Amino acid sequence: MSEEKSLNFIEEIIEEDLKNGKYKSIVTRFPPEPNGYLHLGHASSICLNFGLTKKFAGYTNLRFDDTNPVTEETEYVESIKEDVKWLGFEWKHELYASDYFDTLYEYALKLIGKGLAYVDDSTSEEIAAMKGTPVEAGKESPYRNRSIEENLELFKQMKAGAFADGTRTLRARIDMASTNMLMRDPVLYRIKHAHHHRTGDKWCIYPMYDMAHGQSDSIEHVTHSICTLEFVPHRELYDWLIEHLEIYPSHQYEFARRNINYTVTSKRKLLQLVNEKHVTGWDDPRMPTISGLRRRGYTPGSIRDFCDRIGVAKRENMVDVGLLEFCVREDLNKIAQRRMVVFEPLKIIITDYPEGKTELVQSEDNPEAGEKTYRDVPFSRELYIEQEDFMENPPKKFFRLAPGQMVRLKSAYIIKCDEVVKDEAGTITALKCSHVANSKTGEENAGMKVKGTLHWVSVQHAVPVEIRLYDRLFKVEDPSSEEGDFKDYINPGSLQVIKSAFAEPALKNAKFDEHYQFLRKGYFNLDKDTSEEGLVFNRTVTLKDTWAKETRKD
Ligand code: ATP
Ligand code: MG
Repeated sequence: MSEEKSLNFIEEIIEEDLKNGKYKSIVTRFPPEPNGYLHLGHASSICLNFGLTKKFAGYTNLRFDDTNPVTEETEYVESIKEDVKWLGFEWKHELYASDYFDTLYEYALKLIGKGLAYVDDSTSEEIAAMKGTPVEAGKESPYRNRSIEENLELFKQMKAGAFADGTRTLRARIDMASTNMLMRDPVLYRIKHAHHHRTGDKWCIYPMYDMAHGQSDSIEHVTHSICTLEFVPHRELYDWLIEHLEIYPSHQYEFARRNINYTVTSKRKLLQLVNEKHVTGWDDPRMPTISGLRRRGYTPGSIRDFCDRIGVAKRENMVDVGLLEFCVREDLNKIAQRRMVVFEPLKIIITDYPEGKTELVQSEDNPEAGEKTYRDVPFSRELYIEQEDFMENPPKKFFRLAPGQMVRLKSAYIIKCDEVVKDEAGTITALKCSHVANSKTGEENAGMKVKGTLHWVSVQHAVPVEIRLYDRLFKVEDPSSEEGDFKDYINPGSLQVIKSAFAEPALKNAKFDEHYQFLRKGYFNLDKDTSEEGLVFNRTVTLKDTWAKETRKD
């Protein structure tokens, strides 16, 4: 079933470039700024950049865009590398824009030497005031016509630390009347006496994005430099700098930023959620970060599938998180081990089953797996079932347990509820049931028709576990576009903890890299908060799209 997928617009460009011999092979890069953890938007950029060089001849670099000393940290560098690897991609070279600081400085000297850059003593407010508006030309700075010698001298002094932060900048000398505001003598270098995570205190001037990004692309001979749409206006400056520096001509292409509903994909906002403790950290399972999704039980394959399905667009739109959940269900259904866990226990006593007897019944690990495997599940006289699986006065189509009604216990016997046991207050404390002998699969009474099958756990063998259920982190589709602060729209019910659920004993051996389907409850994985004191499981996703059903109601 190899259905040829049509090429996206960037793939079309590349195919053309390779066909007409412009390139023999291509080079792309993923250029994160190490100022936060990667999120789903980045995943889409990663899949695009690395995907292109999987599809076409070439390779992809991982380049840390670390030109802003104030917000960057080594912790972020490490997490980014871990996340890209986990997503299943391998970079050719690990690079840092800060490694080019010397070269970029030389480039700046070259521009000054050509009369294409000058040192401006104006403050940032003065520069902004002289910028003009889209319909009105800007004013030339009084420092614009300094001599090349003076500019060289001043720029060297800037580098040597002679001036305080913000007192001078290096600006490109382009056109204060350009219709593209970014071409109105953009700032190329600023003074910042700050410690850098890699270069330490060597520098007190730092290149701006436009003076670093395209140049880094060029130094690395990146053929197709892909970024998001907000950089469209930067392209003219990207090309101008490459042309006047006479360096390798990389080209910039833009695609639409990916936004996912009911969450935010901006590192700045995610950082606020972390710092203000709305979540437990960058890897909180409710976060749209790669590390959060990993902890939540998402598989790399499901995230790649999601990015592939949303594809590449030229216009911004909102992607439904339901699609992400669909992708992970598809994947987990194939690989998850089936287990039984009761969340809200109701005790049942099989009165006609011998006291003290334990029988091991065989239950299938995964009916979707190619090779069938089974595990032993202990069955005994006292069992837990789910409270919601019993009703004393059931409506007509209640196919679960009720007085006089029969159900099958998964992989075990058919039982019938004979008596409801209550305490003095009238609260149900247990059910007395009887079982149909020889009604397990393959036995002579197995064919008896019952409508419902319930999951269960033997009381005596039950393992208490903690269960964490997650909902959308935000109550509204697009918290960033709502009035007021986006944090006003946090969903207060995004985390529900069940302290004492009961699991079948096989889960005592649960592993961190395994996925489980708790029958009728959803897909789960072991959380890192698991300790000697007990097992903690996250619900990755429910079995069905309950959210879609709810929203369709109205
Ligand atoms: P944020 O606003 O979250 O800080 P950013 O764009 O500043 O995002 P970078 O670290 O600079 O983050 O991004 C690295 C790469 O990932 C860039 O090429 C950027 O265009 C891309 N990227 C970031 N967010 C998205 C997104 N939501 N959709 C698609 N690509 C994205
Ligand atoms: Mg950025």
